[in-house]
Amino acid sequence: MDKKYIIANWKMNGDRHLIQQYHDFFSQHTLNHHVVICPPFSFLEQIKHQNYHVGAQDCHFEKSGAYTGSISPTILKGLGTKYVILGHCERRSQYSETNELVYKKAAAALDADIIPIFCIGETLQAKENGQTAAFIEKQLQESIPKTQKKMIIAYEPVWAIGTGKVPTPEYIQNVHALIYKLYPKHPILYGGSVNKQNCQAILNIENVNGVLVGGASLDISFFETLMHMPKNNE
Ligand code: PEP
Repeated sequence: MDKKYIIANWKMNGDRHLIQQYHDFFSQHTLNHHVVICPPFSFLEQIKHQNYHVGAQDCHFEKSGAYTGSISPTILKGLGTKYVILGHCERRSQYSETNELVYKKAAAALDADIIPIFCIGETLQAKENGQTAAFIEKQLQESIPKTQKKMIIAYEPVWAIGTGKVPTPEYIQNVHALIYKLYPKHPILYGGSVNKQNCQAILNIENVNGVLVGGASLDISFFETLMHMPKNNE
């Protein structure tokens, strides 16, 4: 298996105990993957470790200003943050984030030399209406700035997030092929109910360059499973 991206999205979870578990595990093991941990903002400094990178779960599009409760890419950069998740479906549904807003945030993140991790994915309704491809293409075109800079795309079907429902390998492969056709230079990750049991099979699907893991990343044993997967080529 090639070197993959393993991105942990803690969402609004985690505490000192979990941070300690991550530090203990990663002090003893080096995974031959690109590991990125995205905790809540308040843990961004504490979670740091030499064996993985750190990412935020969102950012504002301005550098500074009167934006209570927000954080700018400039501040994130100052904290040593290398990545930022943008357009997560929970941000889109709970905070009404649009493709246009995601685009502005991405441009600001890129300007601050932070690598955006774009979350895109169809709703259940779009899937049931046979509109998955059109839905995804629109999200990609409207939210991703045209640039040669590094960016990551995470395909996260909304109906698979936190539900325990995972698309079939063929379904994932088809959507990844579609994204790859439009964005051949960017790593394309799958996210949505990835766990210890299904992770390896998902990572083996063509054009799946990694996984974005929510709930399962709150249990350090998820990473132990990765230790036992077949060795990487690079
Ligand atoms: C996510 O929040 O990006 C995610 C994929 O969540 P879960 O793994 O819990 O479905």
